[in-house]
Amino acid sequence: MHLLQLALEEAKKCTPSSTAFCVGALLVNAGGNILSTGYSRELPGNTHAEQVCLQKLGFRRLPAGSACYTTMEPCSERLSGNKPCVDNLIEAGVEKVYMGVKEPDTFVKCVGVDKLQEAGIEVTYVPGLEIDCMEVAIRGHKGR
Ligand code: ZN
Repeated sequence: MHLLQLALEEAKKCTPSSTAFCVGALLVNAGGNILSTGYSRELPGNTHAEQVCLQKLGFRRLPAGSACYTTMEPCSERLSGNKPCVDNLIEAGVEKVYMGVKEPDTFVKCVGVDKLQEAGIEVTYVPGLEIDCMEVAIRGHKGR
């Protein structure tokens, strides 16, 4: 199974919300072993999936070659005032990000990919899971 599919399984554990997305994420080391998993709002404080992954590891610096798999583009701005996931990932030393779908401009204009690439992180869009990732992400939204 592709690691992004595992991230999607995490996303499905999310409690749907009308004001946020349901996202799942994994952190893996250079050998592809899972270091941490997370999904939106798994930990208290309106947490994001990538943030949960990092928080479970105490926001420590990750080993060289670590990658983040996330069902949706990591956020570059948060209306809540919390630190954006992009900043957390950069600080943790993540070297690669694999994502299922870009963040739609529903809440904020996301420039997560641009910010990651500017920091020298390799961003790969994984084709094939876009529809699944988006359907799970917007489960709690109006009209769904
Ligand atoms: Zn985020």
